Amino acid sequence: MIMKIWKDAVWSKIISVGILLAIGIISDHYISWWEKLKINLSKFILYLNQTVEFEYWKFYLLILGTSLFFLLIIIFSILKEKSNYNKLKYPWEQYTTDTFFGVECHWEYSYNSTPTNIHYLCPSCHYELYPQSHYNVRYTDSTTIFKCENCKKTYEEVLTNPRYVENKIILKVQQKIRTNSWKKE
Ligand SMILES: [Zn+2]
Repeated sequence: MIMKIWKDAVWSKIISVGILLAIGIISDHYISWWEKLKINLSKFILYLNQTVEFEYWKFYLLILGTSLFFLLIIIFSILKEKSNYNKLKYPWEQYTTDTFFGVECHWEYSYNSTPTNIHYLCPSCHYELYPQSHYNVRYTDSTTIFKCENCKKTYEEVLTNPRYVENKIILKVQQKIRTNSWKKE
């Protein structure tokens, strides 16, 4: 089947030109695709005007070239992925800690760049804090307080139910990113 296609003058030319194109493109990806395409198209036209005689070594070279080409593509994409892995998508992704409501907040960014895995630390002893429900007569819902069980310090009362404290932090972080005020001088 492959031999048949190869023996077919037109097909063999198309395949060879495909390889030529592929090698041309991979050889220098800094030159624009269009430039490369133009160069290779002119090569193709020149090639079509010549007669080709079938030789086995050419066929094996073609197989070798094709496999090498795909192997290079695979290696190239793996390397690219690896180098991108530790790179930050946006510069503000290094902004993962700040003080809100008097407590030290730490977070990460999810795949859609939303602060996630938020946790709170006591600014004086770095013990982890949990938002605690607090009753406030002037407020219809319960509010939140951060109380350190280690050094017994109590921090600012947050006028929201503990369930929504995380949302408040997310909104504050996103606002700082939006206004570019997350950067520390
Ligand atoms: Zn503490």
